[in-house]
Amino acid sequence: MAAAVLRPEIRALTAYAVAKAEGVIKLDAMENPYPLPAAVRDEIAAAVANVAINRYPDGGGDAVKTALRQAYGIPPGAGVLLGNGSDEIIQMLACALARPGAAMLAPDPSFVMYRMNALYAGMRFCGVPLAGDFALDLPAMLAAIARERPALTFLAYPNNPTGNLFAAADVEAILRAAPGLVVVDEAYHAFADASFLPRVLDFPNLLVLRTVSKVGMAGLRLGYAIAAPAWIDELNKVRQPYNLNALTQAVAPVLLGQRALLAGQAAAIRAERARLGAALAALPGVTVHPTQTNFVLARVPDAPAWFAALAGARILVKSLHGAHPLLEHCLRITVGTPDENNALLAVLEKLP
Ligand code: PMP
Repeated sequence: MAAAVLRPEIRALTAYAVAKAEGVIKLDAMENPYPLPAAVRDEIAAAVANVAINRYPDGGGDAVKTALRQAYGIPPGAGVLLGNGSDEIIQMLACALARPGAAMLAPDPSFVMYRMNALYAGMRFCGVPLAGDFALDLPAMLAAIARERPALTFLAYPNNPTGNLFAAADVEAILRAAPGLVVVDEAYHAFADASFLPRVLDFPNLLVLRTVSKVGMAGLRLGYAIAAPAWIDELNKVRQPYNLNALTQAVAPVLLGQRALLAGQAAAIRAERARLGAALAALPGVTVHPTQTNFVLARVPDAPAWFAALAGARILVKSLHGAHPLLEHCLRITVGTPDENNALLAVLEKLP
């Protein structure tokens, strides 16, 4: 029965498997490793206790939008769209822009959910290989834009899984050349030295996509998009009416108000990133790529063996070996707490 009615491209997929994490040091998913102070937990508990669970949540998510605007200095003239994680916003974008024959463009390798959502929405996906140093291949991107006329282009800034920040001038050239919407996905903005958010209204086809997942709130599932109000109005038409649950709406403003806490954790992660990167680079045969994220991409002598040794020590990282020719023998390691990073280094330093 299923075979007769399901779309063949969906039948051909395997569902995304999230590794079980009990009892492991989890360095695979770019989460913030720091727990919240007790006083903040109490504040969250009080906020949650007051939620009317029997009622649908605020469909507009107004308290969350206000908190985001205050926390991140979103330009006042720009519109904000909320999603159940930025994953959901990627899905909304594809849904809204998938006119028959429309193309989605992204560099390759980049965040895998761009390609997946093109498939779900029935868009043609065009991946443009990155240069060998993971920079944008601008001539190839511009040629693909001229050829495909993409309705939707994704640029992860900084890029996942490579960790680097593309040249701003290249992003600007793509914004000027692209006939459709260009999404600058700033999931890792808290760990990067540059952002397009202050300039979001300078380009009529720019949408800045962000998430709170990497700054300590992955469990809340909250992503946000910022663009000219006309874009946000259209995208709101494909948003499910109550996509942001009441608990998330109660908790997010509490945490977004903790400016010093969030900034302190991001600074600690940046400092640990430098220490972890240097220690990995000191291992024989290891190359560490420049990163402006909360993870380090390391090319190691034997990624499957290193992954297995870490798994044996109950340390979970992401192996990208086999995912793309540019990522051969690469491991993506999320920056953990100093203790977690030391545990990882202790295993790797003992490898033959
Ligand atoms: N964009 C990029 C570039 C990412 O790396 C991720 C998470 N891996 C996301 C978006 C999705 O984040 P979330 O759905 O948790 O907001």
